[in-house]
Amino acid sequence: VPRTEFQEFSRAVEEIYADLLPDRSGEVAQYIPTLKNAPPDRFGIAVCTADGQTFQIGDAGAGFSIQSTSKPFSYAMALEQFGAGEVHTWVGQEQSGGTFNDPTLSLDAAGKPQNPMINAGAIATLALVEPDVEVSERFARVEQTWARLMGRPPGFDHRTFLAERDTGHGNRGLANLMAARDMLRMDPKDRDAPQKAAEFYFAVCSMQVDAAGLAAAGATLANGGVAPYSGERVFSQETAGRVLSVMGHSGMYNDSGKFSDQVGLPAKSGVSGNVMMVLPDKRMAVVTFSPRLDEAGNSVRGVEVCRQLVEKFGLHPYKSL
Ligand code: GLU
Repeated sequence: VPRTEFQEFSRAVEEIYADLLPDRSGEVAQYIPTLKNAPPDRFGIAVCTADGQTFQIGDAGAGFSIQSTSKPFSYAMALEQFGAGEVHTWVGQEQSGGTFNDPTLSLDAAGKPQNPMINAGAIATLALVEPDVEVSERFARVEQTWARLMGRPPGFDHRTFLAERDTGHGNRGLANLMAARDMLRMDPKDRDAPQKAAEFYFAVCSMQVDAAGLAAAGATLANGGVAPYSGERVFSQETAGRVLSVMGHSGMYNDSGKFSDQVGLPAKSGVSGNVMMVLPDKRMAVVTFSPRLDEAGNSVRGVEVCRQLVEKFGLHPYKSL
């Protein structure tokens, strides 16, 4: 991105930030104390380009648990290791039509999770990340991948992990359902394997990041898999493309279709209030952190930042033809 264009873009982000700062609509996630008690009015935006230019404003350095925004990258790790053919025998590529944790709509008729962006699909794809090594080593590999994406290692939110684990009955149920249909890659002789798969998912959701770090991870996707700070290839171009495709149709919970209409760019949100949007044409990513969520579970300000940027710069790929 040319320097002057980036400066213009940054100025627009600054204006949108100021415009949305007074907006206190929406509610923080209520299901665990760390999210329920999070400062609700935090607001930060971070931009990162493929060539390493950055812009940050507000709470762009404030930490939060990554939650569902880990999912596209867990899918990428599974693709890198097993290839798309094998991965898609375990997880589908369709919109689920249900919420991210829906017990009935998450799996297709064969018991396969509909896509990697819902909880069942994330548990299934994580079961394909270094499945044959010991669990702490598996988690270390995930952390190492994140360190390469962001240019620094992620943190870990222990309280969130403990609470996710204590309240994660639905996720354990999904893991059990998949195991019952032979749709979870696991040691068939280990009867606790589904529980362990769910626990691995809770740990990955509990990694602590900030908007600036996530923006670098998003810029890696915008850059065909090459990390902006190090110039290191983390994912193949094919993997990056597949990840953006699924974000494009299923990244924004049950508002994914509406988001596609209004914004038209690949994005992923998490219940901690983060929204990571990738601008493939501009080779950059924009990440908003603002914990108050709308009915669908997306950050209110986060979605608005995406809408306003797309509107201002005519970035909707189908509406600027
Ligand atoms: N970790 C939560 C769960 O699995 C939510 C993840 C998210 O949607 O951001 O229920």
